[in-house]
Amino acid sequence: MAVVPAPERTIPQTREPARASAPARALERLGLQRDLDLALHLPLRYEDETRLVRIADARDGDALQVEGVVTDARVEFRPRRQLVARIDDGSGTLVLRFVNFYPSHQKTLARGVRVRARGDVRAGFFGREMVHPVFKAVETGAPLSNALTPVYPTVAQLPQAYLRKAIASALQRAPLHELLPAGAVPAGLPSLRDALQRLHHPPPDASLAALHDHSDPAWQRLKFEELLAQQLSQHQARRERAHLAAPPLQPRRGGVHERLAVALPFALTAAQQRVAAEVAADLALPKPMHRLLQGDVGSGKTVVAALSAAIAIDAGWQCALMAPTEILAEQHFRKLVQWLTPLGIGMAWLSGSRKGRARAQMIERVASGEAALVIGTHAVIQDDVHFARLGLAIVDEQHRFGVQQRLALRRKLGEQAGGRAAAPLEPHLLMMSATPIPRTLAMSYFADLDVSTIDELPPGRQPVLTKLFGDDRREQVVARIADEVARGRQVYWVCPLIEESQKLDLQNATETHRQLCDALPGAMVGLLHGRMPAAEKAAVMSLFTGGQMQVLVSTTVIEVGVDVPNASLMVIEHAERFGLAQLHQLRGRVGRGAQASVCVLLYSAPLSPTAKERLRAIVDTHDGFEIARRDLEIRGPGEFMGARQSGDALLRFADLADDAPLLARARTVAAQLLDSEPAAARAQVERWLGGKAEFLKA
Ligand code: ADP
Ligand code: MG
Repeated sequence: MAVVPAPERTIPQTREPARASAPARALERLGLQRDLDLALHLPLRYEDETRLVRIADARDGDALQVEGVVTDARVEFRPRRQLVARIDDGSGTLVLRFVNFYPSHQKTLARGVRVRARGDVRAGFFGREMVHPVFKAVETGAPLSNALTPVYPTVAQLPQAYLRKAIASALQRAPLHELLPAGAVPAGLPSLRDALQRLHHPPPDASLAALHDHSDPAWQRLKFEELLAQQLSQHQARRERAHLAAPPLQPRRGGVHERLAVALPFALTAAQQRVAAEVAADLALPKPMHRLLQGDVGSGKTVVAALSAAIAIDAGWQCALMAPTEILAEQHFRKLVQWLTPLGIGMAWLSGSRKGRARAQMIERVASGEAALVIGTHAVIQDDVHFARLGLAIVDEQHRFGVQQRLALRRKLGEQAGGRAAAPLEPHLLMMSATPIPRTLAMSYFADLDVSTIDELPPGRQPVLTKLFGDDRREQVVARIADEVARGRQVYWVCPLIEESQKLDLQNATETHRQLCDALPGAMVGLLHGRMPAAEKAAVMSLFTGGQMQVLVSTTVIEVGVDVPNASLMVIEHAERFGLAQLHQLRGRVGRGAQASVCVLLYSAPLSPTAKERLRAIVDTHDGFEIARRDLEIRGPGEFMGARQSGDALLRFADLADDAPLLARARTVAAQLLDSEPAAARAQVERWLGGKAEFLKA
């Protein structure tokens, strides 16, 4: 069927050769290269071309397909140039209206031609009409489609018709033979091949509701496959790990750990005490810890990291603490220097911007063991860095690290072990993340991870009051900033940064910075953005952390982990452009002290429905778990591509909240399969995870 505005014949075959590869390139960019990738690219929704509706029965607002003979077709010029055709099916007539059209449209819609048209029916001035319907000429009695028509998520350069063809043929070729023994798959679910066939081309009697809410057996099979592969790779990794040895690490009486605990400026919360004890218990064992420490933003993970590092140091081993951004790493460094240098601990700082002699000196301090605690970005695990005795690696905001960096970390940990051939000892690993999933789910999902959860915020925190303002109320917000500054508080103003329009956004941040400088003559207003040299960034950040600078205008480089307790107001400009998790992270930068804090979300109308829902969700709730849940709900399948690319999505098809029973089943089957059918297990992991299996281990 023709896709308006360009009729089908021209897609894709008759494109000039130079442009013919545009859709192919788009496929590549979307990661749809192998037949399997295409087969797993599922429809967003379906269109029903399996039946015809009598024009007399078509109601306003219905999306449907009709067939009739063109009784009249003409180009009208008022109110603007448009093609108007009328069709008649014997029961009634319907207008097809095109504001954009090609000569080919006119040719097809000639009087006397029988056409099928599909679109939304609405009441027009001259009776019912379809605006820009999809249509094609047909012979009398031409067969109807025998399956629902898939509509795929796509991008502008990749026409739906091209994608449909590519997927339909890939589906025939894709290697989808059954890998699992009978009995492994939950009863009543189709084979993977049948499941995918059904999801791409559902029969006319399939329940659209079950396809959309993913309860259809075909969906269940797909989810089970994915969960099983994930569980297999986790169980496999856990088994491999069981053979490894690590140095048992314990605090010394009167040592760093004890003295740090006393020197801390606050008492640990019960949750912090509990997770610190869980970590300490792991470290004391002669096998490598592999633990995820999760806790909402501001729950106080850093101090748990510091106490764990102190244990390693007490035991005579080195600790590496790695953070995803230079600003965050630097902040950890400052804080830990404050806590640990008085206790006589040697520290080293490694980052991408520290080069040449300074870097060489640091590397030397790491290699000699003089630096007991090494803090930095992923520069910490570069090839030229060799630890004398690495006992513990801590990775902050672990989910922010890319695949390559996680792999590099694994290599580094392995290399540490390999270096001492006599008694290979692998370092312990502690990962920290603020992206929480409920604890019980986390424990069954991360079969290869032990999970500690900080489920309580430090006392005295007041929830951040979140307000939604249209950007026509900017001046009011600026006045509010002046108040806050007058009371000795500090303010963040965050501007969005979007890859394609970096230049524009930079202008945006620079402009806001200038405005605020003008509006707040007595205050120091700083500007921070991703393209500044690291030294300049650090200088600005240190003025802000030190309290000399009252207002910080920034692109989202401050997003993760930055901790300035005196900041009490956060303004987020173009809040509608941010994702929910990101908004939660950003808002988490305020409300870290005892004073009441406010987060103002400025938005530009009009808002899309999902943007509206996101903003509503962030105003309504402060709980990171709840926000993660709402995020999944709102994002739905439409945005999964973006999510997949950013690495945020844990799973592509299954949903941990809905699919807990399938997860439990996959967990059991995974353990059995590894014992009884190791080859099938390997094939399953390879099919679903390919090269990613390695990455999922860390
Ligand atoms: P996150 O879990 O987001 O990494 P941080 O470790 O940055 O949180 O801690 C947030 C703030 O709370 C910091 O200023 C930290 O010093 C403070 N903090 C941590 N634990 C406590 C506590 N038990 N009592 C009071 N303040 C605390
Ligand atoms: Mg943190």
